[in-house]
Amino acid sequence: MDYQVTSDALQGRVILVTGAGAGIGRQAALSYAEKGATVILLGRTVKKLEAVYDEITATGAPQPAIIPLDMLGATRQHYLDMADTIDQQFGRLDGVLHNAGLLGVLSPFDQIDEKSHDDVMQVNVKATMLMTQALLPLLKKSDDARVVFTTSTVGHQGRAYWGSYAISKFATEGMMQVLADEMSDTKVRVNAINPGGTRTSMRASAFPGEDPDTLKTPLDIIPLYVYLMAPEGVEVHGQCIDAQPKR
Ligand code: NDP
Repeated sequence: MDYQVTSDALQGRVILVTGAGAGIGRQAALSYAEKGATVILLGRTVKKLEAVYDEITATGAPQPAIIPLDMLGATRQHYLDMADTIDQQFGRLDGVLHNAGLLGVLSPFDQIDEKSHDDVMQVNVKATMLMTQALLPLLKKSDDARVVFTTSTVGHQGRAYWGSYAISKFATEGMMQVLADEMSDTKVRVNAINPGGTRTSMRASAFPGEDPDTLKTPLDIIPLYVYLMAPEGVEVHGQCIDAQPKR
């Protein structure tokens, strides 16, 4: 499918991107801003968020906002406070891209480390759920809101040694389906994207021997991310979509 949108498709929309400082999240933030959105950049490393902020403002796109937050330690209250701040500043939220993710340690199943498992589940699943709960009232204030989760090929089909990460991505797909079903009668559209192998530091950690030049870049796969936030994607709901064909 060719994910075409108009050049100002996201004009006037307020979109939160988690993990916006690097990799796919960084590119999504840049592309959303380029299409006219006011982007809220959330992540744990302020320097990286500031660099993306500067890149966006240099283009003349709408001024973004920064929310420094470590999703590993954040509690329900952090998300409620964050929702309050967004409400005061913007009065609504038109989209959230749940992109931040932790790979954790790849290991045989019988050696999955409990602490590492808890961390992966905390960032990839529980924090994402708590954040979504806190943001739903704001999303419901929008005339056309979008929630996009991020899954993985190992979230559709389990694979040896992908332990906690694969378990967390199955949970993410389940979360998307549950929320999409509940939002069917609302103006909130809910979907998940599987980026597929993409040239980022997470991919390099998982496949250290791989030649990065053989991989799609975040920019290559971003049209789907834009489409699902744009008016053009309004009919898509409850879907888990691969951003690129299987390698
Ligand atoms: P990167 O590791 O390049 O970026 C991940 C982002 O998440 C970073 O900005 C990172 O922040 C942020 N993040 C991690 N932990 C936390 C935390 N505790 N609190 C806040 N932010 C956090 O990964 P990718 O861009 O490759 O991955 C993006 C998403 O795509 C992930 O959900 C990943 O699972 C998924 N994915 C990626 C694939 C790929 O091939 N790249 C394939 C399939 C799925 P910081 O920079 O500060 O560390």
